[in-house]
Amino acid sequence: MEKQYYVQMKDVNKSFGSFQASKNINFGIEKGKLVGLLGPSGSGKTTILRMLAGLETADSGDILIDGSVVNDVPASKRGIGFVFQSYALFRYMTIYDNIAFGLKIQKWPKKRIKERVYEMLKLVGLEGLENRYPNQLSGGQRQRVAFARALAPQPQLLLLDEPFAAIDAKVRLELRSWLREMISSVGVTSIFVTHDQDEAIEVADQIIITNQGQIEQIGSPKDIYRTPHTPFVAQFIGQSSVVENFQKLSGFENADIHARHAAVRPEYISVTKQGEYLKYPIGSEEGTVEATAFRGSEIELKIRVKDTVLTAKRLLDETPVEVGEKVKVFIYRVYAFDEEKAYV
Ligand code: ATP
Repeated sequence: MEKQYYVQMKDVNKSFGSFQASKNINFGIEKGKLVGLLGPSGSGKTTILRMLAGLETADSGDILIDGSVVNDVPASKRGIGFVFQSYALFRYMTIYDNIAFGLKIQKWPKKRIKERVYEMLKLVGLEGLENRYPNQLSGGQRQRVAFARALAPQPQLLLLDEPFAAIDAKVRLELRSWLREMISSVGVTSIFVTHDQDEAIEVADQIIITNQGQIEQIGSPKDIYRTPHTPFVAQFIGQSSVVENFQKLSGFENADIHARHAAVRPEYISVTKQGEYLKYPIGSEEGTVEATAFRGSEIELKIRVKDTVLTAKRLLDETPVEVGEKVKVFIYRVYAFDEEKAYV
């Protein structure tokens, strides 16, 4: 029997003029899941979200919500809540009226509206702020109001378009874990667009990776991190470098001769300066440091090894390496790929 999905796209295509923004999109999302649509800019994430929302129509294929084809159902009838990147709150309305907005449109009785608004204020942790106006709140608080407003009418599906993009880095981190907890307590199926790998990995139950209008891989954050199916996914998640003909690397001469490429994650590379030694040195490569970048507790290095540039890391408290320095590079593990698909 086919798995029960709450949201589904089947063979969906969408073009804008001669440009195909969605190519043969297929996925299914189970009820109650929090799903991240992740991909680089222009890869088609927003187009997928807008088709689910009913703000764009698919050229072909089916869009299903709760088992029914909704291709011809207008946006307002799809039972969807939205949260956008910019808060999109009504500036001249109080927080109370912002949250009550959708309920008034749906003609909820006044008493129930009041109960629901207070319930929502509690859910998003903004009790006592109902009489303020949006410009009297911080960015993070405003985005919480946007969530409260979207969830108030009890949508069956919540769509979030880069919900944290306009918020400063520290608050964004707090909001991510808050969002995860809040969505799981409400239990609403939710899909959010992001181009930030960390955000998707941290927040989502399941990630859909888009690239050039297509889906590259669907899976849990762990699956995608551990078993990338394509070189694109390996590079996009976890900063892997892709190496061609990796059997030429020292220590990998006997690796699968059918595999053409390998992805190498920074975690599986050790870099030593002259005079530094590893306890168990296996085959090493000579490399030249091309760039260094400070990343908090680590220094990110770009190291040229033969005709490839590898991303590697050293801890901040290790002796620094300089651009142009010759180093030894020890690669412990690679993920091998055929032309397109990974060996799993
Ligand atoms: P971003 O992260 O930059 O928002 P995205 O992955 O969400 O990107 P989409 O917004 O879905 O990508 O756009 C995919 C492609 O479709 C882009 O090349 C974009 O220029 C094109 N596109 C989207 N909407 C339209 C439109 N209404 N008319 C023409 N082209 C469009």
